[in-house]
Amino acid sequence: MCICVDCKWVDRCKAYHTVEKQHGVKHLNLRPDFDPKEPIIHVSLLEEEKGNTSIEWDVQACQSFSLDDGRWLRLRPNEKVPR
Ligand code: SF4
Repeated sequence: MCICVDCKWVDRCKAYHTVEKQHGVKHLNLRPDFDPKEPIIHVSLLEEEKGNTSIEWDVQACQSFSLDDGRWLRLRPNEKVPR
């Protein structure tokens, strides 16, 4: 799971913006202005039903991480938290 959903920088972060782009989802912010320190992005290939595959991008560690539990969900209260 991407740690960014509980990070105070999520809506300003350039790395999270890239993750959103790779997932093809709507951006929280079109012009992020925060450069995180050493984010480690984990890319995994997932097998789905009917032989399909998808690629998942998750930030698994980051020196700029600052806990703000549920920040993503507060910004998008009626949407499913990305996993
Ligand atoms: S954990 Fe790092 S990459 Fe993720 S939103 Fe926070 S600062 Fe950005």
